[in-house]
Amino acid sequence: MKTIKVSVVTPNGPVYESEVEMVSTKAQSGELGILPGHIPLVAPLAIGVVRLKKPGSKEQDFVAVSGGFLEVRPDQVTILAQSAEKAEDIDVERALRAKERAEQRMKEQKVEDIDFRRAELALQRAVNRLAVTQGKM
Ligand code: ATP
Repeated sequence: MKTIKVSVVTPNGPVYESEVEMVSTKAQSGELGILPGHIPLVAPLAIGVVRLKKPGSKEQDFVAVSGGFLEVRPDQVTILAQSAEKAEDIDVERALRAKERAEQRMKEQKVEDIDFRRAELALQRAVNRLAVTQGKM
């Protein structure tokens, strides 16, 4: 089975680097599955999970990303993310607190306010992190 090199990079440094059989992720235009030899592509990412199929195994690695860009070349996928965490590095308590805080703010704000949108995005990041830790993807 052919493999493709994947790097997930954030402003705080690299988060994940490996050879994988397939990368699945959520672009703003929808789900994308990338196999080795994929045509070059650049796409903005949504808040979501990156699923990475390990070579010669049914196992997958999961990385939560909070938007950014995906760059595909035939032998390499680079994900430049605003923030990214491997499933095992996610602090569940912190994500639960962030979720509660965001929900509270959304109750206090008017839907058209910029602070409502900000809280909505914080909620999406927290829910995404929780989903990654629970394998609910
Ligand atoms: P919080 O309100 O808890 O800071 P946030 O969604 O506002 O959450 P971000 O701005 O997306 O946080 O991320 C800031 C930094 O904290 C990033 O380096 C990110 O990887 C890390 N981070 C955020 N939440 C968690 C978490 N639950 N577990 C581990 N790292 C996290």
